[in-house]
Amino acid sequence: MLGADIGFHQTGYVVGVGPENVEALHASMADQRAVGVRTEDVDHTEVRKMWPVADLEPFGAFAWEERGGYGDAYQTAQAFAGAARRAGARLRQGTTVAAIRSAGGRVTGVELADGTTIATGHIVLAAGPWSVPLLAAHGAELPITPHREQIVLVDPGQDLGPVPVFSDLVSLQYIRSEGAGQLLFGNSDLAVLEPADPDRYSNQATASFVDIAVDKVGTRLPGLANPAISSTYAGCYDVTPDFNPVISRVDGLDGLVVAAGFSGHGYKISPAVGRLAADLVADGVSSDADIPAEDFRLSRFAEGALLTSPHPYVGAGQMR
Ligand SMILES: Cc1cc2nc3c(=O)[nH]c(=O)nc-3n(C[C@H](O)[C@H](O)[C@H](O)COP(=O)(O)OP(=O)(O)OC[C@H]3O[C@@H](n4cnc5c(N)ncnc54)[C@H](O)[C@@H]3O)c2cc1C
Repeated sequence: MLGADIGFHQTGYVVGVGPENVEALHASMADQRAVGVRTEDVDHTEVRKMWPVADLEPFGAFAWEERGGYGDAYQTAQAFAGAARRAGARLRQGTTVAAIRSAGGRVTGVELADGTTIATGHIVLAAGPWSVPLLAAHGAELPITPHREQIVLVDPGQDLGPVPVFSDLVSLQYIRSEGAGQLLFGNSDLAVLEPADPDRYSNQATASFVDIAVDKVGTRLPGLANPAISSTYAGCYDVTPDFNPVISRVDGLDGLVVAAGFSGHGYKISPAVGRLAADLVADGVSSDADIPAEDFRLSRFAEGALLTSPHPYVGAGQMR
């Protein structure tokens, strides 16, 4: 699609839920199949073959996406940039937008930090958590909380082979392989956010978070003989009240399309995000019935009509 390597490893993707969430998982799988996602039931025996070191006893059901896996964020961004350049876009890196200019309820351009301006009738505001002040200057509120998300890398102490990405909705964690034989641990428990300044936050996990990782990985993967923490890092999620993004025109500011608030899952859905943002710029409506523009409208927050899952998981309401 992008004509470049995005570092994608097709390991497959397995989601496991406890007995209380089997119904929700199956309903979600049906919805996903309806939009073309190839997801299927697998049983404990199948998952045990994929993850022989895992304790699978607490799970009630699993979903399996053979085409799933993980990609490299940097390579993906470069691939999107290359595709944009080939389509005629001019990319200006290291160029900070200081303000969005408008007149008579319509955008007229952007003012750069060096004082120069670029005149334009169309702007896509996709600056993650930094989108908030740029829009606030025009009296529009983007309800985005920057949240510090911590990641722990584990040396499993043995060769696990090509394990699939494992989303464990029993102990709220995800584990996948990373680099040369490492495992990457992420916490899926987003019930309590850690608000952060996206310009100034610690890019390492705290000792207490490492304790959580040790506890969760140790509980789920008791078959690991000699695991050890190898490193940690952290980044920022731009979280909205319903953990879904804003991809929307803005009332009173014609010519502007916001695409922000991806709440920790903007990578996976990025092709659909690009499609909808382009549609909104071009003619204001979605060209794909499976990407309904109204779901992602900014006004849903003021209306109290949050975009929540029709099949919420017990104990993991933030999962999308
Ligand atoms: C630790 C971690 C793990 C994640 N794991 C996953 C995952 O497994 N699956 C998944 O789908 N997603 C995941 N995500 C989320 C995903 O990375 C984000 O949703 C996605 O990167 C958001 O892309 P974006 O382009 O909206 O924002 P960003 O990637 O934040 O890009 C915004 C850009 O705007 C620029 N900018 C900001 N202000 C200005 C300004 N004033 N002028 C000019 N430029 C500006 C910034 O420099 C930045 O380059 C993860 C995120 C983190 C932090």
